[in-house]
Amino acid sequence: MSGIYIHFPFCTKKCIYCNFYSTTSLTQKDAYIKALQKEIIQSTDYLSDVPIRTLYFGGGTPSLLSIKELSIILETLKLHYFFDKNLEFTFEANPETLTLEYLKSLRELGINRISIGIQSFHDSILHFLNRRHHGEEAQMAIKNALNAGFDNISIDLIYGISERTGSMWLSDLQTAYSYPITHLSAYALSIEENTLLQTKIKRGILTQPREEQFIEDYYLLLEESRKAGFEQYEISNFAKNKRISQHNYAYWEGKPYLGLGPSAHSYNLQTRRWNVANLSTYIQQIETGFCHYETETLSETDHFNEYILLHLRTAEGIDIDKIRTRFGNEKEIYVRNYFLTIEPSHYTIENNYYQLTDAGKLWADQIAMNLFILQEDKL
Ligand code: SF4
Repeated sequence: MSGIYIHFPFCTKKCIYCNFYSTTSLTQKDAYIKALQKEIIQSTDYLSDVPIRTLYFGGGTPSLLSIKELSIILETLKLHYFFDKNLEFTFEANPETLTLEYLKSLRELGINRISIGIQSFHDSILHFLNRRHHGEEAQMAIKNALNAGFDNISIDLIYGISERTGSMWLSDLQTAYSYPITHLSAYALSIEENTLLQTKIKRGILTQPREEQFIEDYYLLLEESRKAGFEQYEISNFAKNKRISQHNYAYWEGKPYLGLGPSAHSYNLQTRRWNVANLSTYIQQIETGFCHYETETLSETDHFNEYILLHLRTAEGIDIDKIRTRFGNEKEIYVRNYFLTIEPSHYTIENNYYQLTDAGKLWADQIAMNLFILQEDKL
């Protein structure tokens, strides 16, 4: 199973917390589409596992593409790749761009999963986050998606925002779950490098998000999600009736994927490569035939660390039998011994799978980092 990710690097406004590669100037949109088409054609040899099972347009704000522009990109993809008849085709969109007409056209193009960047239904929080939309537009976007015939709708929310009271977070969750959505991605607000949020905190304009707020919001998220019948299949992702993101799950499972567009990453089981994270350079390098990406070959240690990092975050957890068969007895003992040193209430062992509990998930990154092997002689 393999997937394709297309990075659309344009947004009309930069959100306060965002460190994804995007530009707020749309002047190079045409040149980007031409370069992307070339990259699509140049990369046909990258994935050997066909047919392609998932296609994901992310960004940036892909819903800034007109239907005509999107059709041109899709035609190029269809000409050069073989897609599964049950393709999961996800399109990320911002609420203010989702008119009923636009959504109906997306459906006609074969898009069967829409992921809406809502973050909050409260105007004051959206203003704080520097989002372009209002709460009412967010609700209208969901209604339009339903009316356009989407039955697989994911929304994104952000929590751990000190400016939002607990009751506002509760109402955000209740509003989200009052609609027949199938999926929720909920991310904790984090201070990333080179973001507006980091700058404002450094300058003393904003204060650091409070840890207690994050923990309170996290438990409320778990409680409301369970009440609504959503399963937490990954730390930040909740699905109803098993409507998980197949694209993201394949990534966590270590399946191959091809990333196209500036800053996109690719993985083909042996190597990882990442495209230049600069639009002008990307366009110029594709146009002139220069290599537009860097590559690294993954060592056994890299594969082990990656397995730990990605699987620790999933409900399935770390399969200790797989650790033994894939990485050897020494690593199995290493993992078993490590878990003996951590707080017992932070994990359970089910059929030889090490799974984090609700409390343990709060420590997932730290547990993963402690398990990482920096050099083979750590064992
Ligand atoms: S819309 Fe998405 S990609 Fe664009 S700045 Fe905001 S969070 Fe980042």
